[in-house]
Amino acid sequence: MKHLFLLLFGCFFFASCKQKQELPLGENYTVIVSLDGFRWDYPQIHGTPCLDSIGRAGVRAVMLPSYPASTFPNHYTLATGLVPDHHGIVNNTFWDANNNREYSMGDSLTRNNPDYYLGEPIWITAQKQGVKTGNVYWVGSDIAIKGAFPTYHKVWADTPRLTFGERVDEVIRLLSLPDEERPKLVMAYFEEPDHNGHVYGPEAEETKQVIAQLDSLMGSLWQRILALPIGDKVNLIVTSDHGMTEVSDERFVCVNDYVKPEWCHKVMGVSPTSIFTKEGCRDSVLRALEGIEHIHVWKKEEVPAELVYGSSDRLGDVIVAPDLGWQFGTEPRHLNGAHGYFPQSPDMQVIFRACGPDFKSDYEAATFVNVDIYTLLAHLLGVVPEPTDGEWERVEGMIRQQ
Ligand code: AMP
Ligand code: ZN
Ligand code: ZN
Repeated sequence: MKHLFLLLFGCFFFASCKQKQELPLGENYTVIVSLDGFRWDYPQIHGTPCLDSIGRAGVRAVMLPSYPASTFPNHYTLATGLVPDHHGIVNNTFWDANNNREYSMGDSLTRNNPDYYLGEPIWITAQKQGVKTGNVYWVGSDIAIKGAFPTYHKVWADTPRLTFGERVDEVIRLLSLPDEERPKLVMAYFEEPDHNGHVYGPEAEETKQVIAQLDSLMGSLWQRILALPIGDKVNLIVTSDHGMTEVSDERFVCVNDYVKPEWCHKVMGVSPTSIFTKEGCRDSVLRALEGIEHIHVWKKEEVPAELVYGSSDRLGDVIVAPDLGWQFGTEPRHLNGAHGYFPQSPDMQVIFRACGPDFKSDYEAATFVNVDIYTLLAHLLGVVPEPTDGEWERVEGMIRQQ
C-alpha cells in the first residue's frame, strides 16, 4: 500500500518553508475566483469557450487539491498555503475534543469561531503590510481570523446572498474604487458547479448548463476588467477547491455492519471518516475494518505521509478513507456526485486559468498543488509570505519575466 502511495504522490512533497523568492514590485491588481467543484476536465467534457480564451491569453494548468478534497479544508488551504492537517480545518465537519463539541461548516456558531482557523490567510498577510483586499464570500473571509477581516467583505449568512451576477458587479465595483481605496487583491467565491455536480453528477446536462452560465460570467468578468481604466494592470485567476466524481448508493460500505457503537466515542465525517475510539477499543475497530474492499483504514499515525493527515488533534485515532466513487458511513448520501477523495485521483483535480500582466501568454504550466496559491498571491501582491507548505518553484514558471 505504502509503495502505491509513494508512486502516486512521489512528485508532490509538501516541503515546509521552502519559499525563497525575489520580492516583485507588486504594482498590479489580482482577482482570484473559485468556482466550487470545477473539475480540471470540465472544459473538455462540457465546453467552456470563455475559460478557453482566458487560458489562451494566459496560463492553463491542472491543480491538485490537498487532502481531503472538500470545500472548507481546501478554500482555507488556498487562503493560507497550509494543508488542512496544519491549518486546522481538517474536514467540513470534525470533532473538537478539547471543547467536546462538533465543528461544522453548516453551524454558524462553530464556523464563525476564529479559534478553529490556524495559519494566516493571505488577506491578513496583505493588510499587515499595508495592502488592501476585497472579498466576496471566500471561506474564512467573514470570520475575524487573527482579529481582522479583509478590508472589504460580504457576510455569507446575510440574506439574500448576492446572485452570481451581483458578485461580478461587486468585483468590478471594488476595482473601480478611487486609487487610495482600491484593493490590490479581490477574492470571489461561487458555489457552483459543486451543487449541480452533487445532485445530478459531474457529466449531467444540468451540470453542463450551470458550467455554461459560469463560463459566460467569467467571460463577462474578464471583458469588464479589461474595460476598466486599470484594466491592463489586473491579473485574473479562475480556479477551484476540488473536483467531483460519480457516486451511487450501491457503492457504499456501512460502518455499522462492522464496528460496534460501544467501541467508539465519535464517528465523524465522510471521505474520510475520523473515528475516535473508546479506551482499549482501537484494535477492535481496526480488526473489524481490516481487509474490507473499497476502504482504506489506518491508525492516525500511519496515514501515508503523502496525504499529510496525521498530526492534528482534530483527527480521530482511526482514519477510514473510501476508494474513489465509494462511500463509507452510517448511510449513503443519495447523491450522484461527491468529492473528498485522494488528491492524486484525476477526478479530484481542478481547473487553473490565469491571465493578465504578470502571467505568461498561451502557456501550459506544469501540474502543481493548491498549497502554492498563497505563495503565488503573495508574489503578485509584492508582500512577504508567511512560511507555508507551498513551493514557489512549482509556480514560478508561469510568471512573465519583466
Ligand atoms: P461541500 O459540502 O463540500 O460540497 O460544500 C459546499 C457548500 O459550502 C456550498 O454549497 C455552500 O453552502 C458552503 N459554503 C461555501 N462557502 C461558504 C462560506 N464562506 N460560509 C459558509 N458556507 C459556505
Ligand atoms: Zn467545494
Ligand atoms: Zn461539494
